[in-house]
Amino acid sequence: QVPLKPGRSLMDWIRLTKSGKDLTGLKGRLIEVTEDELAKHNKKEDCWICIRGFVYNVTPYMEYHPGGEDELMKAAGTDGTDLFDQVHRWVNYESMLKECLVGRMALKPVAAPKVDILMTLLFVGMLPEKKLLGASAKDLTPSMPEESLCVYIYFSLLYYLFCSYDWFQTDSSVTIVIYTKQKNMNAELVIVDCQDKQLRGEIIMDEHSFLVEVDLDHAVQEDITVNISEKVGKVEISLKKKEKIHWKMLGQPLESHETVTKRTDRGLFYRKCKLVSKTEVTHDTRLLCLMLPKSTHLCVPTGQHVYLKQMIAGTEVVKPYTPVLPFLPLDFKEPSAHDGAHIYFMIKIYSCGLFTQALDHLQIGDCISVSNPEGNFKKSQAEASEDVFLLAAGTGFTPMVKLLNFTLSEVRCLRTVKLMFFNKTEDDILWRNQLEQLALKDERFEVQFILSQPAKDWVGKQGKISSSLLSDFVKRSRKDSKVLICICGPAPFTEQGVQYLKDLGYSQEEIHAFTA
Ligand code: FAD
Ligand code: NAP
Repeated sequence: QVPLKPGRSLMDWIRLTKSGKDLTGLKGRLIEVTEDELAKHNKKEDCWICIRGFVYNVTPYMEYHPGGEDELMKAAGTDGTDLFDQVHRWVNYESMLKECLVGRMALKPVAAPKVDILMTLLFVGMLPEKKLLGASAKDLTPSMPEESLCVYIYFSLLYYLFCSYDWFQTDSSVTIVIYTKQKNMNAELVIVDCQDKQLRGEIIMDEHSFLVEVDLDHAVQEDITVNISEKVGKVEISLKKKEKIHWKMLGQPLESHETVTKRTDRGLFYRKCKLVSKTEVTHDTRLLCLMLPKSTHLCVPTGQHVYLKQMIAGTEVVKPYTPVLPFLPLDFKEPSAHDGAHIYFMIKIYSCGLFTQALDHLQIGDCISVSNPEGNFKKSQAEASEDVFLLAAGTGFTPMVKLLNFTLSEVRCLRTVKLMFFNKTEDDILWRNQLEQLALKDERFEVQFILSQPAKDWVGKQGKISSSLLSDFVKRSRKDSKVLICICGPAPFTEQGVQYLKDLGYSQEEIHAFTA
């Protein structure tokens, strides 16, 4: 992020887009853009960028871009889709840049594919066409090299061959059975939503997912049940019919029905959740409890975040947040039961924050959209760890909440978990009492608070993240013990921390940095 000039905040941008000003220079006309034409618009004062086949004039947006003009200029006059996806795939650019839309990219004539690709495509061609939408959609991305396309299709096919679904009905119910042949299938890998007769069931398989997506033949009741047979990888979704009539078919397949696609290539899916409570954690941080619809099955995995979406001044604004638990469990004999119906967020309200101010104004009973989870932390990183070190600054504590619970309850070989928690003042420390209680209750856990702006009477440690603070703190409980160090906070805090840890001799595999 770079500091923006006064009058260049997201809110100012939203205002400009609503002002009726011609932001494309084309007086509302949409045009078809060739690659040659796109390439001509590669200067700050005349900059076009293509994202997913649509071309935007981003010159008016330059000064409002939180990542700075130089970042935007990296994609000037080119297809910026990959760059965009790497940095912030979740930003709803369609809504943010709709007044900058110049038009669509003209489709290129397709060159003859190489033999190996041809073979794959021939094989693909033997399968029903509807099952290949994932691959064919990606096929349209002009920038994808042939080799990547080949690997992409190979994995899509591999997973596709293992996935299938079936359905059956009784007088009062309809059950969809998805077979994945995946071992260790669990609730976090199954996301189901049923909204207005539209059923969407996504099964996650590493980087890919299999989707069942249909417009149901008839209406169903609101509540759904999901049963998972972990060992054989079978998932059953049970729906209750609204009327006792015989269904001729499950329903009309929707666009991505029965596809296997890389998860990052699927658009974010949102469902509306109701705010049921809002409690104070500190002077500026709240614990929000949202209720998932009865027709949703969603368990956000440890270490992952979701996106919240709100309409602000007529524009959809999206920001990432990391779900937490309602409190820190103190007893880790058994994994804590998840009620499945609620999702909790610990959110700091910034006095000039666009999104958090709007969140703070939500009333109990209001709804907010919550996306599917994302993130690159895998529980397997922690599963064999003996010593876990958590370095958190401010709300960077949020991913540590589930991580603490997971390591203390499920990691068998765990010897120690130590949290070093950086804040400005004592009043800013999140869940201080709970952390101190946990440290008293469980001898494997230790917490250290470090303040950067302490009051005079603070007797604890003070300062900022530094090599000397870390070298005292991050010590193996025995020589060669397996270590995991997780770090989360403001981006510069995280970057510095990672560098100090590397300088202290910790390897890339031993460090996990939570970032966007
Ligand atoms: P903006 O309008 O963007 O900014 C207004 C002002 O607020 C800024 O000028 C600055 O003073 C301050 N500010 C805004 N953002 C930041 C920031 N990121 N760091 C420091 N100061 C800032 N936040 C939570 O409270 N809880 C979470 O669980 C959480 N999870 C996150 C997960 C991920 C993966 C990431 C990348 C971020 C997460 N955040 C979390 C931060 C969150 O996404 C927003 O950046 C934050 O809520 C501010 O949004 P805003 O629109 O209110 O502020
Ligand atoms: P904050 O209160 O501003 O800062 C917390 C502590 O970090 C303070 O001691 C502060 O010291 C220190 N700090 C801030 N910037 C630093 C820097 N550049 N170098 C070293 N120390 C620094 O923090 P916050 O407002 O809660 O912000 C939390 C951050 O975590 C946000 O940026 C949020 O986006 C991020 N976050 C990320 C994720 C994720 O998964 N990626 C999840 C949750 C939150 P000073 O007194 O010097 O400011």
